[in-house]
Amino acid sequence: MATIAEVRALIAQHAPNCPECNEPMRAPDPDIEPVVTGNTARARYVCAQCRTPSGQPRREFVTFDTQTRSAHAVFVGTGEVTGLATAKWYAERMATDMTSQVSRTEMFVAFLTTVGVTGRAVEAAARAQELSAAAGEAWLAASAALRRQDTVREAYVAVPGAGTKQFVTSE
Ligand SMILES: [Zn+2]
Repeated sequence: MATIAEVRALIAQHAPNCPECNEPMRAPDPDIEPVVTGNTARARYVCAQCRTPSGQPRREFVTFDTQTRSAHAVFVGTGEVTGLATAKWYAERMATDMTSQVSRTEMFVAFLTTVGVTGRAVEAAARAQELSAAAGEAWLAASAALRRQDTVREAYVAVPGAGTKQFVTSE
């Protein structure tokens, strides 16, 4: 079990680059304790310059395995999805994340194969790779469907006071 000081050191060493501007993200706010559960620690990083569509600092969450001292997941939270713009942004981010999982899993499977691992572990990892690819496609579809709603948004903006949906579409 890692001490809180060890977890903090781990977090400071693994600050990710911002997915938007590629600058190093800031280590978490010292007031906020990393969330440690068993051998897993979860930390928050923020970008000094990027903002989400809702105006919040761009954040990334990283999960650490405190036993192997490795960072093993980066993902965005859903807490900032408040409307169409943020929903589109989130769906696009998830599509990108899933797609990068596919190539990482591919490398993982290749590694296992290289070191002579066969059978269930390789099969399961290959299955995970397929599922990540399918999830990536589903997120792309969600993203495309949300983008189509821009037409509706633009029409609302262009004709303020156009009336309710029922009024506009009934005859
Ligand atoms: Zn940034």
